[in-house]
Amino acid sequence: MLVFPYRVGVFHVNERTIVSAAILDGKAIAQEIRSEVAQQAAEFASAHGRKPCLATVLVGEDPASQVYIRMKHKACEKEGLDSRHHMLPDGATEEQLLEQIAELNADDAVNGILVQLPVPDQINEKKVLDAIDPLKDVDAFHPENVGRIVQGRPRFLPCTPYGIQQMLHRKGIEVSGKHVVVIGRSEIVGKPMAMMLMQRGSELGRESANGTVTVCHSRTADLPGVCRQADILIAAIGVAKFVTADMVKPGAAVIDVGINRTDDGLVGDVDFDAVKEVAGHITPVPGGVGPLTIAMLLHNTLIAARLQAS
Ligand code: NDP
Repeated sequence: MLVFPYRVGVFHVNERTIVSAAILDGKAIAQEIRSEVAQQAAEFASAHGRKPCLATVLVGEDPASQVYIRMKHKACEKEGLDSRHHMLPDGATEEQLLEQIAELNADDAVNGILVQLPVPDQINEKKVLDAIDPLKDVDAFHPENVGRIVQGRPRFLPCTPYGIQQMLHRKGIEVSGKHVVVIGRSEIVGKPMAMMLMQRGSELGRESANGTVTVCHSRTADLPGVCRQADILIAAIGVAKFVTADMVKPGAAVIDVGINRTDDGLVGDVDFDAVKEVAGHITPVPGGVGPLTIAMLLHNTLIAARLQAS
């Protein structure tokens, strides 16, 4: 039984009437960004005689990782970037992976390096990410790049949070002055997302930052109550349909980062069908945040190529 008191089909929030949430079409926004990158990559190629180049490294044969890698290379090819892929066997040692990274660091033809995570247990993930040249760190996981984000002078921004910030910006959803609640505190999504949206400014303008940010995690008390305060609710948890309608303030923008494989196929961290009746904006899964992550990877590879050429 649905007990959420606001679910009355039509209700009023901030003097506007909401019938059902506007769907944030990540695919369309990603295509817009990719077209811009393609044009700028072509300009870079004609100025420098070579295309921006992304190198990916995968250890092992995890099927999901293989799919992600294929998608990244296909996107590079489509938008006029070069890409290379390096595969190491599942039993590869940390030293072998570090050697591969050192080789790519030293290769002037490679602008961006991405190690597909997770790496097998015998390899220390942090040690590997620390070994990537910060100027080629298109995932923005190197401590130097993370520190720059914290200080508000980023070199690269991590692809998923960057894609979300772009989406909010391009859809006219202002962050400044809003209460943003991020569920999840991972290094990849939750932490950098919170850090980016609380900054005084951003390359997209002050309106795309200056949020009042709350970060929730598995120890948060009264998580539904905290979520209900959010003007912008970002779910990066990894639990299918975790966010239910009663956790959402009417009219809020709800961004679903989750990718969960279930018997019903891919679902997000948000109970989309119920929450869309309450939210003002909502991202679908698939077709929401995912395509933006890839678009921002291409963007970061272009930025890396420019940095190394300057
Ligand atoms: P992590 O597993 O690294 O982090 C999950 C976070 O959620 C943790 O901070 C954890 O809290 C919190 N959490 C887990 N369970 C609960 C709970 N019951 N209540 C409150 N908080 C909880 O995940 P990621 O950030 O890497 O990924 C999150 C999701 O986003 C996954 O589904 C992943 O597949 C997806 N993803 C999608 C991307 C895309 O491009 N669309 C890119 C990256 C990730 P605690 O810290 O206390 O353990």
